[in-house]
Amino acid sequence: MNFNLKKYSLFGVLILIPVAMSLITKQEIIYLIENYAESTGLLLLLPISALLIFVIWRNNKLKFYKEGYEIEKEKNILLRHYDYLSRYANDIIILLDDKGMMLQANEKAFSVYGYTQEELIGKSGKILRPENEQNKFDDIIKKIHNREGIVYETIHIKKSGERFVAEISVCPFTIEGTTYIQAIIRDATQRKKTEETVRQHAMFLDSVGQAVIATNLNLEIIYWNKAAERLFGWQKSEVINKNILDIVPLEINEDKLDEIILELKNGLSWSGEVQVRKKDETIFPVKINNSPLYNSQGEMVGIVGVYDDLTEQKIRELELLHAKDKAEEVNKLKSNFLANISHEVRTPLIGILGFSEMILEETYDSDLKEKVGEIYKSGKKLNETLDTILDISKIEAEKVNVVYERFNLGETIKESIVLYKVLAEEKGIEIKYTAGTNGLLVELDKKILSKIINNLLSNAVKYTSEGEITVSTYCNNAEVKIEIEDTGVGIPEDKLKTVFEPFRQASEGYNRRFGGTGLGLTITKILVEMMNGRIHLESQFGKGSKITIELPVYSSGSCDTLPVINEVQKKMEQRIRSFEKISLLLVEDDDVNAKIILRFLEEEYNTEWVSSGSEAIALASGKNYNGILMDISLKGELDGLTTAERIKKIQGYEASPVIAVTAHAMVGDKEKFLNGGCTHYISKPFSRNDLLFLLKNIFS
Ligand code: ADP
Repeated sequence: MNFNLKKYSLFGVLILIPVAMSLITKQEIIYLIENYAESTGLLLLLPISALLIFVIWRNNKLKFYKEGYEIEKEKNILLRHYDYLSRYANDIIILLDDKGMMLQANEKAFSVYGYTQEELIGKSGKILRPENEQNKFDDIIKKIHNREGIVYETIHIKKSGERFVAEISVCPFTIEGTTYIQAIIRDATQRKKTEETVRQHAMFLDSVGQAVIATNLNLEIIYWNKAAERLFGWQKSEVINKNILDIVPLEINEDKLDEIILELKNGLSWSGEVQVRKKDETIFPVKINNSPLYNSQGEMVGIVGVYDDLTEQKIRELELLHAKDKAEEVNKLKSNFLANISHEVRTPLIGILGFSEMILEETYDSDLKEKVGEIYKSGKKLNETLDTILDISKIEAEKVNVVYERFNLGETIKESIVLYKVLAEEKGIEIKYTAGTNGLLVELDKKILSKIINNLLSNAVKYTSEGEITVSTYCNNAEVKIEIEDTGVGIPEDKLKTVFEPFRQASEGYNRRFGGTGLGLTITKILVEMMNGRIHLESQFGKGSKITIELPVYSSGSCDTLPVINEVQKKMEQRIRSFEKISLLLVEDDDVNAKIILRFLEEEYNTEWVSSGSEAIALASGKNYNGILMDISLKGELDGLTTAERIKKIQGYEASPVIAVTAHAMVGDKEKFLNGGCTHYISKPFSRNDLLFLLKNIFS
């Protein structure tokens, strides 16, 4: 029993000890040996020690296998992970040895380069480069060795021969003493293109003359081009990320500024002219065009502003303003000059025309008649030239208004023909008038139309030496057409357009064959267009010319016919015959003019003449004249207008006609005199008929 107990105890110890030993650590066993060796005896110590050594060895062996297993497991997971990553990676991943031989590549590599596994694996990475780039491959491999890794760009070539920009990140690593290189390759062609576009845009924006500044939504500057550097004096590096309002302060009140910023932040564009400050504190004007800046997703990410320097423009505007003032001053001087010339020429003309007209009527001496006739014609010519110049200055000053009235076109044309008939007959030319309809009633500006017809007839007579001149009128419902055709010198084809330009003539310079100002057709065309009409010139050099005018008829939209005899004229003639002698007071300081006027009036009016305003007032106070003929520029203290005003205040003269008889015939003169106390106006020089016609109209 004792034996058995011993035996089993020993067996139990033998079993339990290794079990216990596997559970206790090496240090604990050493402690046990040290502390219990003495008491249990050497006999027991030896087998126990042997057992312990076995257990420790066994334990370490187990641990080694366990760790190996764990490492292997982890490695497998990593490999799977790596495989997964490289298989689905968007970049090309290639594993190379330290000589640059390709050991492994992912799917992306095969699909991009177009090689199969067999064609790629085991080959040098050189094959991915074009031939002329291949020698650089070895340099790269050498550089990578012992380095942490580098990133570079090069050109790669696909199996198809297509090249692309490759952005490569290479990284060396060592496993169990062997060095490998991992290369991650990305096709950078698109990125390069984008970069190039951005670079070009930036260059483009740098090369524009306007300052371009972009900010984010916090108003911090994110772009500042070269022109902005020049304009504001700040360098790009000084302003990036700074608040734009600190760099480019706007000289406007804060409320307005807040309003603008709010508008901009809400995605609205804003543009305006403001004063801004430069780096050197100078304040200057700019025009700003601000608009929202969007990213590729269409989200507003900032504000872009284009700044135009207005300094030069403002200077130019000021200069222009000065120039305009100067031009206006010069124009005033020109107008004054013209007014003076007009006055000075018209005053003697009344003597020339008036007396020659009288001699022509009174003399039977044919030689004298011929000579005086020439004087009369010359005077008339001078008068016409003066009128043309005044016409163009009136048109230039936009003082010509179209006043529509109903009148008989045929009668008006005949009145014009009468004016030129004598002149034409002298040249042996006949002026014929053929009306499409018997009498045309039109609604146009009669004065303007007469001027047009007169200008054209004057030219026709002037440029025709034989044959005839035909005036024809046609009418369709809404338009009247007037043609004036002559058999004169004609106009060369290349001059057909220029003759409508101011001062242009068909023959100019030393070859100038005819006199004239070259303004007649210019004025005519403007006048036709003022009544919304058209003018057309046809001509054959050496054969004759035809001018056609087409004018819209406004009345009832159609041309009416009128009785052939002009009733109005008839009535006028009856009235003229029934006149009694009317008393007139002539106030005129020019002797020649006074004599002419007295002679013009002697048969039909009782006229008394004084040469000053004070005499006129004195006479008018003592006698009641039916009307006053008043020269405006009177020598002495009182001018014509003051005299007229004073006479009007004399009892009995309140409603009396006061006729301004004057050589002031510039734009606005007539209106000035009519507003200043005169009731009627006639400009010098005038013919006897002009004056009598006016007086008859007044007193009938
Ligand atoms: P002006 O007659 O004063 O020179 P116009 O403006 O009336 O100025 O005419 C311009 C030019 O057109 C004339 O100089 C002349 O050469 C040409 N012209 C005008 N009308 C005729 C015409 N009926 N026949 C020939 N030439 C004409």
